[in-house]
Amino acid sequence: MSNTAELADPRMVSERTPRVRKRRDDLIRCLEQLTYNLRWSWNPRTRELFQSLAPEPWARTNNPVATLRSATNEPDRLAEHAESILECHSDLEQYLNNPTQVKNVPRIAYFCAEFAIAESLPIYSGGLGVLAGDHLKAASDLGLPLIAVGLMYRYGYFRQVIDDTGYQREAYDRLDTDSVAVRPVLNAQGAPVVIDVPFPSRTVHARVWVARVGRVPLYLLDTDLAENREDDRWITSHLYGGDQDTRIRQEIVLGIGGLRALRAILPTDAQADVMHMNEGHSAFLALELARERLASGAASSFDEAALQVANKLAFTTHTPVAAGHDAFPSDLIEAYFNGYRQQLGLTHDEFMLRGRRDPEAIWERFSMTVLALRSAARRNGVSQLHGTVSKEMWGGVGLTMRDAPPAAEMDAITNGVHTATWVGPEMSTLFDQQLGTDWRTLPEVARNWKAMARADKGALWTARTAQRARLLAQVDAMARHEGLGGLHPDVTPEKALVLGFARRFATYKRAGLVLTDPERLVRLMDGGNRPLVVVFAGKAHPRDEPGKLLVQRIVQASRDERFRGRLVFLDNYDVEIARLLVQGSDVWMNTPRRPQEASGTSGMKATLNGALHLSELDGWWDEAYEPGIGWALGEGLSGDLVGEAHDAAEAKQLMDLLEFEILPEFFERNEHGHPERWLDRVARSIQSMAPRFSAQRMVREYAERFYTPAGAAVAA
Ligand SMILES: *Cc1c(COP(=O)(O)O)cnc(C)c1O
Repeated sequence: MSNTAELADPRMVSERTPRVRKRRDDLIRCLEQLTYNLRWSWNPRTRELFQSLAPEPWARTNNPVATLRSATNEPDRLAEHAESILECHSDLEQYLNNPTQVKNVPRIAYFCAEFAIAESLPIYSGGLGVLAGDHLKAASDLGLPLIAVGLMYRYGYFRQVIDDTGYQREAYDRLDTDSVAVRPVLNAQGAPVVIDVPFPSRTVHARVWVARVGRVPLYLLDTDLAENREDDRWITSHLYGGDQDTRIRQEIVLGIGGLRALRAILPTDAQADVMHMNEGHSAFLALELARERLASGAASSFDEAALQVANKLAFTTHTPVAAGHDAFPSDLIEAYFNGYRQQLGLTHDEFMLRGRRDPEAIWERFSMTVLALRSAARRNGVSQLHGTVSKEMWGGVGLTMRDAPPAAEMDAITNGVHTATWVGPEMSTLFDQQLGTDWRTLPEVARNWKAMARADKGALWTARTAQRARLLAQVDAMARHEGLGGLHPDVTPEKALVLGFARRFATYKRAGLVLTDPERLVRLMDGGNRPLVVVFAGKAHPRDEPGKLLVQRIVQASRDERFRGRLVFLDNYDVEIARLLVQGSDVWMNTPRRPQEASGTSGMKATLNGALHLSELDGWWDEAYEPGIGWALGEGLSGDLVGEAHDAAEAKQLMDLLEFEILPEFFERNEHGHPERWLDRVARSIQSMAPRFSAQRMVREYAERFYTPAGAAVAA
């Protein structure tokens, strides 16, 4: 029967229509699964599919929920993309069923106040959230039995708006939960799970959302419910906003509410064996675990209960800077914990001792870090240097009041970055060609990067140039938009060296160091045939006035005639801008005052993409630096040297390195126009850094050194 005859046959048409409709519904269902599993955020094929299905909404939002809506209304587009929808979908199914790569790991619950998975779920502020997001992605890739708990901030952190004077203003956008890839968690009756969190003379209710991060469910608590008191609805509104009162409420919801959410959602035999408190914000969790033991009669005193649960708990501290450690005054603690501490059988003074470093110091506030240290049998800093520094800072704080020196020693597990999230498309194609594809599944294995040593330098230069071009195109557009007339005509992708600097504008990070001697920087930039462009990005905390003035200083420099089109500030630093910057920069600059940078991860992302690292010997660089690969600032000294003279000496060292080593080598070209010596360094840098500073190496370390022994100790 011919097609026409088939169509003409009324019986066939009536049969075909439901079939067509079913096919359409199947495609939508597949697309929905692709949308609602955030694995798309590190799967280029799925991102390409979204882009191609709905170019306009995708470019505007980077959010597949918008893409899904637009595609659902256009059956023809859907049909056109049927093949790639089905391919991506079956690839996702296969991914979700991959065998686990790490055996005998107990079930882990990972608590953190922020997570950066994708820009369309803006519930993070910076480094801590990115690290937590990368932890989940790597745990998913490895097939670790890990679940995560956080908060659903309706207004997130803030969007940075730079005003006419270069000063940072903050804008807050309300997140519409219908428009992001999260879903309410439902109970057996199909109703949303709502949990009760104990507050003074009332109960705060929290609903639970779930975001799927590959194989890892991320549960997010949200107090914006009509049955809550008006001010309680705002508990989960802003990340790191508000005052101490808001902060303690958030931490009660995260720690106590978070555990109650797991109890409500998971069957008894699927509860976590080990709980990881990533930073002190979630440390009230330890109290709730102890309360459960007391309530069930498994322990008869708080001390006994606390020791019983200590093996379940791991704690990671993320900064040696005091402002990064929450501490609450005694009266605030009493206001919130009066009723609760009675369930723990503790007086107010006994309760305060859990959060005081020195039990004798009654003026000390209640520190969440100390609470975590008194609760968790395993604890670590996030680089080798930070482990040492943390041991000095917190070494005396043991598990119980009698436990001094502590049985639990401060350990060090260096951070890492999720390879597939941060590598640029051109570099990943280059890796496939030069290394084979094992680096994708096992980036932590050094052998998989070995062939970088023999990599084709022409191809490497081409990939680097393509990534640099993408960054410069955006920088140019931004500089036009700002009325600065775009990049200087000398600054072309084939020629220019891009020096990138993007991070939180806290003063200890010294964003202004490269501007210490502006005339010298002007001379270096204005080299005619050797163009240098410096690109800055970063937010200051809304209440960090010195940080905001630093932003202003950089923005004003970018508007200065001498730096026009050669020094640019990209506003609203976020995950998407970070990707652009770490992929396109040639040199990544990091200038903290040692030893205040616990680890830093943006440099790891940049070196993965073939940037060379120019950094103070602080954080991860203190253990990673080797002569001949990147450049070291400072002499690895900290402490008493810190001060203006020290800053001036390091500013000079920075400019000397740029003038006498970095620029000459980058602009030394062979007959093909490639900087051969430079590319040798780049290849060696990637080969050495990519495996060691991958999130997969980091998560394996947590599994081997923390989770597995903790699980064994809990079971014993
Ligand atoms: C990686 C990243 C960070 C953390 O990098 P640092 O080196 O610690 O500054 C912060 N913010 C964003 C958006 C990032 O992608």
